[in-house]
Amino acid sequence: MYLILLGAPGAGKGTQAHVLTDLIKIAHVSSGDLFRENIKNGTPIGIEAQGYINRGELVPDETVIEMIMEHLSTPACRNGALLDGFPRTIYQADALNEALREHFKEGISRVIYIKVDTDELLQRLSGRWICPVCQTPYHEINNPPRVKGKCDQEGAELYQRDDDKRSTAERRLQVYFNQTMPLIDYYKEHGLLLEINGQQPVEKVTRDIVTALEAIPANEGKKSIMLGETEESLVA
Ligand code: ADP
Ligand code: AMP
Repeated sequence: MYLILLGAPGAGKGTQAHVLTDLIKIAHVSSGDLFRENIKNGTPIGIEAQGYINRGELVPDETVIEMIMEHLSTPACRNGALLDGFPRTIYQADALNEALREHFKEGISRVIYIKVDTDELLQRLSGRWICPVCQTPYHEINNPPRVKGKCDQEGAELYQRDDDKRSTAERRLQVYFNQTMPLIDYYKEHGLLLEINGQQPVEKVTRDIVTALEAIPANEGKKSIMLGETEESLVA
């Protein structure tokens, strides 16, 4: 099964991904986490991506597509994946659909769109702290760890991302509005979009997502929707 988490920076995609992958036992594939890992390891992808990330811009499509496709072919993703932060452009969405159809003989099951107001997004990004080991995001006010500054699972010292500082966060939101928001209509037109109110407590957002996923008819799980084919043509 392939699911996509769509939403602005700070909408709560990573937060929900950590809970959901525990519940539904599929791999969490975060393009941002993969880039940060590549940067830490000084790989060619990391070296290329760093400048874009520091400026709050998107990394070029071809680079991110190659990185994600390679990752989707690893054994960790043999049961599918919950994609977080990818796709972020129509070009990436088309490439993902084509690759899934060609190499994995499966389509996207649903796109979970987590909707949050802009003011709230900036407040969330400025208070975000992340575990360097398991990448779980916390928030100093909304979603604090049990012990200040330490990850609940790993006990590791939490850190703040450089690109969460106000000026870069504002640029990232602008980039989201211009380049990623068109994906909402793109997936809506294909009948794949589940719109979730992200401005509720974390647990309530999770519950709404699970309820929406549970409402997917069982036969769809087997057949899976391919973009370009209508639900009716699959059921027929
Ligand atoms: P994204 O992955 O979409 O960029 P995160 O999951 O990292 O977003 O969440 C951004 C920040 O908002 C984090 O500090 C997180 O703790 C906090 N957060 C996530 N979900 C909620 C929520 N439902 N209500 C309040 N704060 C939240
Ligand atoms: P995130 O952790 O999802 O907030 O991503 C951090 C940064 O990584 C983004 O601001 C982009 O610079 C880059 N990035 C992550 N995913 C993508 C993507 N799908 N396409 C292009 N750039 C990406």
